[in-house]
Parts: sequence; C-alpha cells; structure tokens
Amino acid sequence: MDLIIRGGLLAGIDEVADIGIDGGRIVQIEAYIPERGAEEIDASGNLVSMGFIDAHIHADKAFTAGRIDHEIDAPDGYLGRVARARRVKESFDVQDVRRRASRLFEMAAASGTTTMRTQVELDPILGTVAAEGIRLAAADCSDIIHVQTVAFPQEGWLDCGWEMDCRPDMRAGLEMGFDAVGGNINPELFSDAREQIDDVLALAREFGIAVDIDLDIGANGVGYNLPYLARCIEAMEFGGHVTAAHLTALSHVPEPLRDRAIRAAAEAGISVCSPGNPATPIRSLLEAGVNVTLGTDNVRDAFSGLGNADMLDTARFLARVNRMHRPAELAAMFAMCTRNAARALGLGEQLGLAVGRRADLVILETEDVEGAIRDVVARPYVIKGGRVIARYGAIDRSS
Ligand SMILES: [Zn+2]
Repeated sequence: MDLIIRGGLLAGIDEVADIGIDGGRIVQIEAYIPERGAEEIDASGNLVSMGFIDAHIHADKAFTAGRIDHEIDAPDGYLGRVARARRVKESFDVQDVRRRASRLFEMAAASGTTTMRTQVELDPILGTVAAEGIRLAAADCSDIIHVQTVAFPQEGWLDCGWEMDCRPDMRAGLEMGFDAVGGNINPELFSDAREQIDDVLALAREFGIAVDIDLDIGANGVGYNLPYLARCIEAMEFGGHVTAAHLTALSHVPEPLRDRAIRAAAEAGISVCSPGNPATPIRSLLEAGVNVTLGTDNVRDAFSGLGNADMLDTARFLARVNRMHRPAELAAMFAMCTRNAARALGLGEQLGLAVGRRADLVILETEDVEGAIRDVVARPYVIKGGRVIARYGAIDRSS
C-alpha cells in the first residue's frame, strides 16, 4: 500500500483504526493493518477526517482588497460593495485571476480543504475572463484541490438599475462547462426574483447541471422566495442537486411562515449553504432535517477585507453566533464542513471515510470533533488523492 495512517480517531465514526491507501483510494479500514505501507503516518491521539469541503467561495475576486477605491461615490451597504467590486474587476485579466485563484486554492488546501465550490462571475464587464482564469488555476492546482464552479451573476440578472443584462454572458460561460448555475436574488437588486428562479432552473435543465443560487439575501423579510423555489422544484420534478445560499430573510419572517418554508425546503431536498453568514438560521434548518453546508465566501475583496478560506474558523464563528456548543451541535457543524457538503455537491459516493472512496483526508491535532471546532487546531497532514500535499498549514508538493 502507498500509505497507511495508523491509529487515528475517525471523525463521524468515533473508532480508532488504521487506514490503508493505494492508488489514490482508501482500500482498507481496520483496527490494525499488519502489512507495512510505502509511507506511514502515526495519527495516534489525532483526529482523521475526510478533507473539508468549502461549499461557497469567490476565488475569482480573492485578494483584491488592496485595489478598492474607498473614495468612490457609492451607496452604503450591498449596492456600494457591488459598485466597488465592479470598479475592481475592470482590472482583471485571465492571468491575474489565475494567479490569485491559485493562491487561494493553496491557502485553502493547506488548511485541509480538498474540495471547493467557487462562484465565478459572468457579466458584460468580465465576459468569460474569470471563467478562463479559474479554469486554468483549477488545472494548476488539481493535485491539491478539486474545484467545482458555479456560474454567478454578481451584478444581478437583468435591469438591476445599471442596465446590464448578464444572461448572454451566463450562457457563454455555461457553454464552457460549469458544475452549477447560480443566481443572485437580493431585494436590493431590482430584477424579478421569480423570473430569475425560472431562468436558472431552465438553464440547469438545459445544461444538465446543479443549481446553486444565492437566495433571499436581505436584512428583512422582503423578497422572500424560498417557498417559490421549493414549489418549482417539486412541480417540475427537478431531480438534480439544488443548493440555496444565505437565506438571511428567513431570520426575519414570522415563525410559522419560516417553519413552513423550511419544511418545504426539506421536502424538496434543497440543501442550504451558510457562507459564514450569521443570519442564516442554521439551527432551525438542521432541526427540520435540511442538509446544511458551510462556505468561507469572500476572501480579502470588496465584500470582506478579512477571510482565510479556513473552514474550521468559519465553523467556530458560526457555532458561537448560533450558540451551538453542545457535543451533538458541534458534530453537526463538523458534518456541515464534510459529509453534508459532499452530498450537496453530488460527491456523496466519492468522498468520505470508507473503503473505495477517494483518499482526500485531513489529520487534525485534536482528540475529537468537538475539539476541532472549539480549539484552534494544527493540521499536521492534508492528503489529496492518497498523497500528502500539506504539512502543518503549508503546501508541500515534494511527496
Ligand atoms: Zn458569496
């Protein structure tokens, strides 16, 4: 066997075992594997997990905070951030996106993220520049991270007050090959939400891909479209994977309405992603049996000057603001970074701690899953496709 990881506690299984890896896959999980591996890792006293999955991030605009014009005449709030980001992205070219995205992929992989779903902007400003840059970066970094892409209209869909129609560029991008089609349903953008949901579902059908849509991003209950999305999916028997991200408006609608919408989402099989957003009602969603995932979202761009693409940092923050601190709640939070996200990204049969699955793993210097969320833990090894690709937070491509 190429690699044997000895004596770690298996996350989510709660057993101490050896993991045998060969040809990039897990080939054996036993209390003790008698044969010797070409390489061996002593994980005793540590936690072994499937690699983290960042279900929502913006690799195309990462590390652009230094380019923001803070003097720009822009409104406060979301529209101001969109306006500043628009000015910044006028500076993008393919190689610039490639360099920054590669830096982000390395940063994420070093912290244990072996799969990532990134939003990619398609609009009249960028055309397919971001899509081309991300595609090159994903190829450059395919040895350390698996990247899925979502076609994302940051500027809105149509008629958002700046006379921009993003639909032709969305289509041009999708024709290059994407894993999911996204949307941007925010009451501050004026385009018709239901029309956009209809369009997104039609595009997903046409291209045979998943839906991953920013939905109901609002600081109040205005523009509340989750029930409509659930109804559409049920009515058209959509069948594919659907993720709704943010859903902050859910925290502001009356409780009976909210509960009914969450039940509808659960029944329609919609996964929900909280991209580190404290207003996504994670606790209620989990209690209703919704498949909830996490993303680290913006990394040092016009939307957030912070961010380090570290899933455990995001999980710790959300555990704190949602007051999720019991052992079962911390375990649920860990599943949001791993198992739940694999399911949402359509990778549930490929990833995980089981024989036959891809050997994408992270070893954490902590005794259990609770410690992984509670403490700031070192990650002595990250393993991608059966090869060690990072040690103690630094990429190491030597093995
Ligand atoms: Zn986002």
